Amino acid sequence: MGSSTKHIFITGGVTSSLGKGIIAASLAKLLQSRGISVTIQKFDPYLNIDPGTLNPYEHGECFVTEDGAETDLDLGHYERFLNTETSQDNNVTTGKIYNNVITKERKGEYLGKTVQVIPHITDEIKNNFFKLGETGKYEVVITEIGGCVGDIESLPFVEAVRQSRWDLGPNNFMVIHLTLIPYLAAAKELKTKPTQHSVKQLLEAGVQPDILVCRTEKHLPMEVKKKIAQFCNVQLNCVIEAMDADSIYDVPLLMKKEKLDERVMTKLKLTSKSNTELEQWKEFLGKLKNPTQEIHIGLVGKYVSLPDAYKSIIESFTHAGASLECKVNLTLISSEEINEDNVDKKLGELDGIVVAPGFGERGLIGKVEAVKFARERLIPFFGICLGLQIAVIEFARNVIGMKGASSTEMDPDTEYPVIYLMEGQKNLTQLGGTMRLGSYPCELTKNTKASAAYGKPKINERHRHRYEFNNKYLKEFEQNGMIASGKNPEGGLVEIMELKDHPWFLGTQFHPEYKSTVLNPHPLFVRFIKAAIDEKQQK
Ligand code: GLN
Repeated sequence: MGSSTKHIFITGGVTSSLGKGIIAASLAKLLQSRGISVTIQKFDPYLNIDPGTLNPYEHGECFVTEDGAETDLDLGHYERFLNTETSQDNNVTTGKIYNNVITKERKGEYLGKTVQVIPHITDEIKNNFFKLGETGKYEVVITEIGGCVGDIESLPFVEAVRQSRWDLGPNNFMVIHLTLIPYLAAAKELKTKPTQHSVKQLLEAGVQPDILVCRTEKHLPMEVKKKIAQFCNVQLNCVIEAMDADSIYDVPLLMKKEKLDERVMTKLKLTSKSNTELEQWKEFLGKLKNPTQEIHIGLVGKYVSLPDAYKSIIESFTHAGASLECKVNLTLISSEEINEDNVDKKLGELDGIVVAPGFGERGLIGKVEAVKFARERLIPFFGICLGLQIAVIEFARNVIGMKGASSTEMDPDTEYPVIYLMEGQKNLTQLGGTMRLGSYPCELTKNTKASAAYGKPKINERHRHRYEFNNKYLKEFEQNGMIASGKNPEGGLVEIMELKDHPWFLGTQFHPEYKSTVLNPHPLFVRFIKAAIDEKQQK
């Protein structure tokens, strides 16, 4: 077992939501800037095989990779920071591990042995820890262990980490533990006890962290750092302060200042092959922090109380906005609260309107009203996945005059099924992993807003849907001014639609937000923001 690849495991303690994903992505970014090939994988302790069947309120958005895996949203951060793609293998859950083991057991592969958590589950976990390293593509693999140390469900992962030190050998293995140093306002003191306890818990499981990254709202004085080092058996210079940052994109530079990458390089005996000093990253940050203009965009959807449900869309606006030196104020608006009477009040002040992806019937009326408002008032509009489908429904009902037109997802008996179930989706009984997922090619129609945005005739974008535009109606739509500006070259599935007579009204069946990164803002988001800026200037 093992390979020449070096493995860094990142665990978390004290509380969840400390930002392990951002620390992992930031460290990876710093290593990448030194010319080291690196990838990040996430191990989640829950029993779902993947997060595809989870309600976004559980763990936020479901991210989709090029190869069609439905994954944890942290993979989105990894791609946005590193500007490289992740895959099926970058996200593993306890459910997937057990599924593999039980499948092997049914095949008789354990040769009559009693199948147990140790060694069979832990071996399967380790096989998956090492899989990406064994491709030979990466010098370093960073593994983020979801959840908190001490949780019953993450015990097998921690045990597999413990065993990995032995499997991988010296200089190929290290553990970074992310903890919280709370500040007690009443005592005016930073408290190290929770960190001590959480490291103790790791030690009980046989894992000694090499580096502690300490989240804090106040600078850690030397005596606090000393105390942590002494009680947690780590070197003083391996107690790394992670101050709360204004933006997640500041974290790589903060970690560089704290020398996190240097400590890792030393521990793993790595040598830098280049040093790009993160120039492009700094340029992005400069633009992000010094906008010359400002716009207001409304994101209409049904999961508005948890912004993580729209993580990739929100980050796409950050990337595209920064490229135009424009601050994008994004307001999440609940579609359930929009109706014919209040739509002007709710959306009237906006420079652009987005209708978000989603599933099911809830909030349909509000979304249709939002589309109608954007279309009639000539406000820039961007519909993503379900957002495109709603734009199609609205156009059918209010422009073409197809009364009651709908998607069969919301109204199976509609007289005008302008959006309907894809052929391949009809007889499926299993929900998990069966949507049209991942990257598909799309050909753009010349002289359209879509082709102007991309500046090339053929693109690839990622999908996650079951329903599609019903091509039976395409002629009628095009005659009335809504055209298909992007189609799948094989089956002719409509992938992009837009209005001819509108400053900027476009919807995509795919999810452009999954491909936006800091260094490559997505062209459709850039064009949409440009249109919103123009709209604002004309007001
Ligand atoms: N519910 C719609 C479908 O399955 C849209 C999905 C989405 O927005 N991701 O086609």
